[in-house]
Amino acid sequence: MITASSRLIGCLVLLLSSVGVAVEGQQSKFVQPCPDAGGYRGWLGGPAKNHLGHDYRTPAGTDVKAISDGVVWRVDLNVPGFGSEGKPGALIWLKHRLASGHYFYALYGHVTPDRKLRDGTRVEVNQTIATVAVYLDADTKKDLSHLHFGIWNSETMPPVSQLGYGPVRSFTDPVKFLKENAPYSDVNSEVEGDSGPSPRPEAPVRPLKPVAPRPLPPRR
Ligand SMILES: [Zn+2]
Repeated sequence: MITASSRLIGCLVLLLSSVGVAVEGQQSKFVQPCPDAGGYRGWLGGPAKNHLGHDYRTPAGTDVKAISDGVVWRVDLNVPGFGSEGKPGALIWLKHRLASGHYFYALYGHVTPDRKLRDGTRVEVNQTIATVAVYLDADTKKDLSHLHFGIWNSETMPPVSQLGYGPVRSFTDPVKFLKENAPYSDVNSEVEGDSGPSPRPEAPVRPLKPVAPRPLPPRR
């Protein structure tokens, strides 16, 4: 038989567990830019062991997600080597921020950017910012479509060349970085018209919105 006191205890348990959820929600985690993709070429992989990012192998047309709230630093449609068969192609640089207040930049390459994106456009975590572009190998014409994902772990401006392979400089292993650097904070409350580190105090951390599961795109 349910008594008034057992109902009260039940309510207290519910209340405490909801407080627990709220505290947990402050730990905003990064999302993967292509959650369902396999790996292709990893950090410092390739023949010369100088690949400056992680490749997410996935069919052309797959959505590319913003890993956290951020702002578009640069959309470039004509970067040498970023297109199919060795031609120029597109990339997006987003500026993100950790809860510590440290800014960094994420590179999303071999993509077809969302046409609404402009330099300075604000984006939300898990927002589709692009789709993976068709990427055929220059020699074999084999379909190797993938997202090239890089992290420039510095508040200095990212470079505009030698983005896929080359000296490490401030690039870092992006998979390790996403695992080890949660939570991030809401960059959007701070960076309007600002391209450098914010002098203002750290913004409160915003809980991550739940992510709906997405069916795998058909393989070609
Ligand atoms: Zn790559």
